Amino acid sequence: MTHLKGAEEITIRDVWEARKRIASIVKKTPLIHSATLSEKAGRPVHLKLENVQDIGAFKVRGAANKILSLSEDEKRRGVAAFSTGNHGLAVSYVAKKLGIPAFVCISSRVPKAKVEALQRLGATLEIVGDSQDDAGERCYELEREKGLTVVHPFDDPHVITGQGTIGLELLEELPQLKDVVIPLSGGGLLSGIGLALKSTDQNIRVTGVSMERSAVMAESLKAGKPLLMKESETLADSLLGGIGLDNQYTFTMVKRFMDDLLHIPEEEIAYSMAYMMDKHQLIMEGAAATGIAAVLGEKLPHQDGDIAVIISGSNVDLSALLPLLRTYFRNK
Ligand SMILES: *Cc1c(COP(=O)(O)O)cnc(C)c1O
Repeated sequence: MTHLKGAEEITIRDVWEARKRIASIVKKTPLIHSATLSEKAGRPVHLKLENVQDIGAFKVRGAANKILSLSEDEKRRGVAAFSTGNHGLAVSYVAKKLGIPAFVCISSRVPKAKVEALQRLGATLEIVGDSQDDAGERCYELEREKGLTVVHPFDDPHVITGQGTIGLELLEELPQLKDVVIPLSGGGLLSGIGLALKSTDQNIRVTGVSMERSAVMAESLKAGKPLLMKESETLADSLLGGIGLDNQYTFTMVKRFMDDLLHIPEEEIAYSMAYMMDKHQLIMEGAAATGIAAVLGEKLPHQDGDIAVIISGSNVDLSALLPLLRTYFRNK
């Protein structure tokens, strides 16, 4: 077992190490200037396009940093994840690239399209029970039985600093950055980027964005401790999921690095997804569109300076986009 650092001990040096470690399998993503959003906001708006990663989301960064830092022995035994979303794809993708076994534990309710996407990446699927909790339990059983390493979706120093490499890329291309807008769920993405940016300049403002309902991190921060909450239906499905009652890192780091938190209503997420298809020919999933909604709704606390919005992913069913587009054009 390697010694794991405490939340306070993770530094920007760890993010630089992550950057070096993951360079061979993770893309450096484009940062593009958005003319239409800049005009709306009255200040320069830039989009960090994590949707162009091979799996369509940023989560390969954290997964790659975690898996590449395992010992040769641990790699040979393999890795496991219990997410059907972008994290499951990321772990399977990285394992495939490295030629090591990946197990993804899922419940019997997981839709066929997601099962097939995981199978295409060569993951071994363990189908158990009918809830995400059952799948999680099975995953930790596999860890004990087969000596697999479970890759946590956010609450792990290597995962956090892997996601933080986005912060380094932002500073390189946009040293004058004033505001960054980051979709928030478990908080690995915000903790990592926040660490990289705030270690460089305390004055860069970090704004988290979530949907209105089931924003577990937000409620936990208000309560002063991690909470459990029921999930509700949302277009930002990648932002669902708890933060863990035994949260070790992201609760502390989000509290430390996040200046503001915005809650985006479902209609505004829907509008932003359609708006970006219309004006930018860009498809993004609901989670990523929360950041666009923050800009379109002029909700950012500051008046001037460059804004970067993290376009965290684009994995959405085309069939889910049709009704949004219909509503958008009807109201236009
Ligand atoms: C996982 C994910 C997020 C949230 O990341 P956390 O580290 O859990 O806060 C945001 N957007 C997309 C597309 C994701 O897959």
